[in-house]
Amino acid sequence: MRLYSTKNKEEFVDLKTAVFKGLPQDNGLYMPEHIPQLPKEFIANLQEYSFKEIALNITSNLFGDVIPIEDLAKIVTNAINFPAPVVSLDEQYNILELFHGPSLAFKDFGARFMAQLMSYFNQGENKELTILVATSGDTGGAVAAGFYKTPGIRVVILYPSGKVSNLQEKQLTTLGHNIQALEVDGTFDDCQALVKKAFLDKKLRKKLRLSSANSINIARLVPQTFYYFQAYKQLAKSDQPTVFSIPSGNFGNLTAGLMAQQMGLPVDHFIAATNDNDVVPEYLKTGEYKPRPSVPTISNAMDVGSPSNFARMLDLYSSTWNTMKENISGYAYNDEQTRAGVKEVHDKYNYVIETHGAVGYLALKDYLKEHPDKRGVILETAHPSKFIDEVEKVLEKKIEIPERLAVLADKEKEATFLKPDFGQFKSWLLNNLS
Ligand SMILES: *Cc1c(COP(=O)(O)O)cnc(C)c1O
Repeated sequence: MRLYSTKNKEEFVDLKTAVFKGLPQDNGLYMPEHIPQLPKEFIANLQEYSFKEIALNITSNLFGDVIPIEDLAKIVTNAINFPAPVVSLDEQYNILELFHGPSLAFKDFGARFMAQLMSYFNQGENKELTILVATSGDTGGAVAAGFYKTPGIRVVILYPSGKVSNLQEKQLTTLGHNIQALEVDGTFDDCQALVKKAFLDKKLRKKLRLSSANSINIARLVPQTFYYFQAYKQLAKSDQPTVFSIPSGNFGNLTAGLMAQQMGLPVDHFIAATNDNDVVPEYLKTGEYKPRPSVPTISNAMDVGSPSNFARMLDLYSSTWNTMKENISGYAYNDEQTRAGVKEVHDKYNYVIETHGAVGYLALKDYLKEHPDKRGVILETAHPSKFIDEVEKVLEKKIEIPERLAVLADKEKEATFLKPDFGQFKSWLLNNLS
């Protein structure tokens, strides 16, 4: 198992390098040299495998030559310790619930697996590893929970003061132990700039072992393939071709689906569902790719104007529009349509879907109008309580907040307040970590 950069397919790095570096020097994205085809017998008998066994099969096919199977089993067991159930609304509409992890969003899968993999590769190092993350909300919570109490690794999370929700802030600032939060008096971009500068700083690099928990890390993508298999396994036996509808921002989730398909999962088609940030649906329609600044919406985890995984999608299709659009259809919805989607799913199926999932629902509905013989799985990427204001307003009723989120409300916030000033950030790192 080696990895190349989407900008240079001639040079390879090993898995450990790709995981610790996150991004290649040339600003491409790491991709596995081969995406292994899983044994037909395994795919035909998915029902006989537990979620963890599915995950172990995939990882051992990908990483089996780098990490011994017993170690992979430990990584998978520690990372994938919550379920991914499918709720069937009717014969055509199914919901894959990806919010049963600690931070109540699908990013828990990626963050937990990455934490385990980094911890594995970090064994035998005598110097602590420091992970720097800038977050606008969701990623930080998943990373904090994923790395919590991981031996030999410390996490420093930078978030923009006053720009994350109260519960999101609590997810970042109440864990303690090896998780430290820096509340930056600035924007998300300021946080990101501080992190970037830290990686380039000679003194910091000499004193500290630094790494990132970037969303484009290959270690976050691989575990997202697991639940496509897990979803397929739970569907009723049927001759209907199966499509997946994926509410998308940076398109990591959709890219993982494409990888699952290449591994042999019989997915008939993918639906790229977005809000008004519709760069990819537009590309699928017109063949023109025009990244632009994002616009704010009520499905804000998908407010991305220049999706980072698009380079990987192109890579999987040898950069041709024709082959990509045969396998993926794009749909986009504005906020008003999204609210109507939340309401419709509740009225029709008595199911509470949040705004991101609702975008996936609308897209599947439009696709099925043209393809009534098929059935779909909508990825529900977060628990409704994470977007409680919007959902409660639309449904005019109270949403239950799961215990693991609700308990945070009473916990004491612990964060260090920081000006968006690199000198101050650097001193803090040197004084507190080295
Ligand atoms: C991150 C996120 C998305 C977007 O996922 P991508 O893999 O970036 O496309 C969708 N919904 C929620 C709730 C998210 O947190």
